Amino acid sequence: MNFHVMTLFPEMIEQAMSVSITGRAMKAGHISVNAVNIRDYAQNKHNRVDDYPYGGGAGMVMQAAPVYRCYEDIVKKNGAARVVYLSPQGKVFSQEMAQEYAKEDNLIFLCGHYEGIDERVLEEIVTDYVSIGDYVLTGGELPALVMMDTIARLVPGVLNNEVSAQTESFSEHLLEYPQYTRPEEWHGKKVPPVLLSGNHKLLKEWYREQSVIRTAKNRPDLLEKAELTEKERHLAEQILQQKTE
Ligand code: SAM
Repeated sequence: MNFHVMTLFPEMIEQAMSVSITGRAMKAGHISVNAVNIRDYAQNKHNRVDDYPYGGGAGMVMQAAPVYRCYEDIVKKNGAARVVYLSPQGKVFSQEMAQEYAKEDNLIFLCGHYEGIDERVLEEIVTDYVSIGDYVLTGGELPALVMMDTIARLVPGVLNNEVSAQTESFSEHLLEYPQYTRPEEWHGKKVPPVLLSGNHKLLKEWYREQSVIRTAKNRPDLLEKAELTEKERHLAEQILQQKTE
């Protein structure tokens, strides 16, 4: 997976992606990150890429031309790809969307700043508008990092233990079960005995049951799409009932 990021702050992207799991994935060649500075495509003395909005109003707007030249250069060197504009006005990002994006070979992210980007260039190059939630950040770099981190974990080879991506929260529309590590007892709290039993059948049942309980408690909205057995559906209903009492 090759990520290309159009940004005014390439160092922010490079620094964040070069550590931990994504950093190792880059070194191993599972992913690559190409952060491209939109400012390099300005054609004026002070490398300005923003200007006042027509019609007035607060803040500045990023100009169409440098964004377009930056995009053309990326496509010329790497071929055409989906262009994701990070925007609070986009579709809210989800694990399901990450799974779709993980199938692509190349993805281009466009990070806005200030009040946003001239609408005309968005109309010409953007294929997907994606938000990371109903709040407004100063720029698209953190949202792009959130998306790349999530997508990178789904690229084969990036996680050592690929099973973990399959059992995690939101896969199968359930939250993940609680996790424990050594010691067996801490602050008087014992690890659930089933985890020490070594009985895989019991463990599997416990994980699933805990996932259903957690989801019913914390994110009952997810259960609508989850495929539950009759017993699990009954368990979820009991939890929901307890919440309303
Ligand atoms: N004026 C814009 C509006 O009201 O829709 C907000 C602009 S915001 C201050 C600057 C940039 O941050 C946006 O162009 C976008 O790239 C990014 N951004 C801010 N909030 C975001 C969010 N929730 N999800 C994705 N990108 C976001």
